[in-house]
Order: sequence, then C-alpha cells, then structure tokens
Amino acid sequence: MRAVVFEKWQTFPEIKDVPRPVPGPGEVLLKVAGAGACHSDVALYKDFAEGAPGSIPPAFILGHENSGWVEELGEGVTGVEVGAAYLVYGPVGCGRCKACSRGQDTYCENAAEMPYLGMGLGRDGGMAEYMVVPVRNLVPLGDADPVAAAPLSDAALTPYHAIKTALPHLNGGGKFALVIGLGGLGQMAVQILKALTGATVIATDMKEEAMAKAAASGAIVVPGGEGQIERIREITGGRGVDAAFDFVGIAPTVATAAGSMAVQSKLTVVGIAGGGYEWNFFKTPYESTLTNTYWGTIEDLHEVVDMYRAGQIKPDVELFTMDQALDAYRKLESGQLAGRAVVVPHGK
Ligand code: NAD
Ligand code: ZN
Repeated sequence: MRAVVFEKWQTFPEIKDVPRPVPGPGEVLLKVAGAGACHSDVALYKDFAEGAPGSIPPAFILGHENSGWVEELGEGVTGVEVGAAYLVYGPVGCGRCKACSRGQDTYCENAAEMPYLGMGLGRDGGMAEYMVVPVRNLVPLGDADPVAAAPLSDAALTPYHAIKTALPHLNGGGKFALVIGLGGLGQMAVQILKALTGATVIATDMKEEAMAKAAASGAIVVPGGEGQIERIREITGGRGVDAAFDFVGIAPTVATAAGSMAVQSKLTVVGIAGGGYEWNFFKTPYESTLTNTYWGTIEDLHEVVDMYRAGQIKPDVELFTMDQALDAYRKLESGQLAGRAVVVPHGK
C-alpha cells in the first residue's frame, strides 16, 4: 500500500510503497477514510532537529488525525463491526496509569517507557491506505461522513480540550475569549467557543481569508499590527479577555495574548512554536494564568463527535488524493490552504 513516510530528520516526507499492516491482538485494521495534515507534522519533519524538545525519531508513517472503516479484526476483538466508521483517538499511552485510566493517554505517567506517543507520532499513522489501531482508540461515528470528520480527532479535539479546561473563566454573561491563529485548529476553536459559551469571541490571523472565515463563524476580528492589544482591550470595555488561546505560540503572539488578559483570566498556548515569554510580578493582571495543553482525552473526543453529529461544529476541509498528499504538506507549509487538508487514500 502507499503511505506518506517521515524518513529522515529535517527532510520533506516521501510517498512510499510499504507492506499493508497486520492487526495484532486487541487491534483492528482500518481502511483510512481521511487523514488530516496538521502543522505539528511540519514541526516533526522540518523544524525539529534530532533530540530537540518535541522531536520524534523517524522513520514512521505520518498522520495523527484519522478516520476510517474497520476492515479486519485482530485476535480477541469484539464489539466492533467490520465496515463501520470510526474516528481514531491518536495518542497511545501505557493504558494502565491514572492518566490513561481516565482516557488521557496524552499525559501517560509511563510515557518515558513507551516506544511512541501515538499513531503518526512514532508509531505508524493514517496517511496511508490502511492503518492499525488499538480497539480502545476507536470512537464511533455512526452514520456521520467519516471523510469530513477526520479533522475532529486533532483540529477539533485539541481546541476542545483547551476550551473545556478554560470554561470556568467563560462561565457567565459578559465574557470575552481571544483566538490567535485561525488555521486548522483556530477555526474549530471559534466554532467550539460559539457552541459552548456565550462569550464574545475576538479572533486574529495574518491572513484576510482566515479572518473572514472566523467572522462568518461569529467572531469579531482584529487584524495584527500596531495598536492590536489596545483594540482588543477596547472591545472588552478596557477589562481584557477572560480566556485567550494562542494557536501559533511564537514570542509575539504569546506577548499579544498575555497583553490582552483580564484579571483572573487564563491564557492557553496550544501552538508549539516554542516562543518565550518573560514574566515578572507586574507583567500580567492579578491571578491570571498562563498554561499549555496537549491534545485531549478519549471522553473529549466522544463529546466532539456528539457536537459534530448535532451540527454544532463543522470542519472546513480541502481534500487531496494520495498522489497529491505531498502537495497538502507543501500548501500547509506555505500557508496556502483554504481549509484543513485531508488526504483521502480511497477517493472522495
Ligand atoms: P495551520 O498552519 O493550519 O494554522 C496556523 C495559522 O496561524 C494560520 O492561519 C496562520 O496564518 C496563522 N499565523 C501564523 N503566524 C501568525 C501570527 N504571527 N499572528 C497571527 N496568526 C498567525 O496550523 P494548525 O494545524 O492549526 O496548528 C496550529 C498550531 O498548533 C501549530 O503550532 C501546531 O503544531 C499546534 N498544535 C498543537 C497541538 C497541541 O496538542 N498542543 C495539537 C495540534 C497542533
Ligand atoms: Zn499511561
């Protein structure tokens, strides 16, 4: 079968012919419906040098945002129907620690002993015709379209988890949320904030089209540049935002988010660009918090699917065949995508 392989450090991936994988005990073989291209993949194959924080040694098949139809059951698998559509929860922890027991494999306490972080992250992912998935990582899609659903497993799950953990700050009337970086994750963040809270959503990006899309989802957009923080504060009546989400994570965006915060607010940095922020007592409003998050839980993913099936969120996708898979990454790198890039190995 054909697959997109991250072969060497700091080298663009290749499409290769590889053997079709065989599901082991407790696993299924999934016929891939959709595999989303995430900006974290670009960090993995292009930005991160060997040994850098966040780096994962090649070689493996990319794709940590996947959906598909069960093709074959491994030994001992029950309760899963061949042909049924599922979304894949990508992280794979030890399955036994406290974090994994609550469905939060992202924070597995035994991660250091695990040979990989997840599918498409050290273990073969879904940018291929078929992939192997532990049965525990399947979230049922029912009759929902699995192709358009693929981005739910990262582009929606990650902002969903960040927003859900910030909900106490957005609970009540007159609240404000800020979203920086309106790509795959940021567009979903705007939709999720509108669906889960009554907060006024303020959004920004460098690209006009991205801001127009966020505005269509109900956000007030504020372009970057001089006076941006003042403009954001003005919208909030001078108070600042109650929750900010930075989907870029470079020093200037973290500074913009931090500069826009209200007293007792929360800034969550999701973008993995690694930009620094120098803090001192006088820098941020009292009791405001700066944190980060990584992906989400299995329970969160079930909730994201519920929202999708209820029509409350809808990923905007741009589809690519397997032949065009590398173009998806080229367009992602150069910021030319109109929606989340989803590779459809078996057609649209
Ligand atoms: P993307 O390329 O689809 O979107 C990035 C957006 O940010 C683009 O619209 C771009 O125009 C905008 N942008 C870039 N620089 C900007 C700036 N200076 N000011 C304002 N906007 C700017 O990327 P994505 O796939 O949505 O991923 C976003 C980030 O989240 C990446 O860093 C990715 O690695 C990270 N990520 C983190 C997690 C996690 O668990 N923490 C999970 C998935 C992705
Ligand atoms: Zn664990």
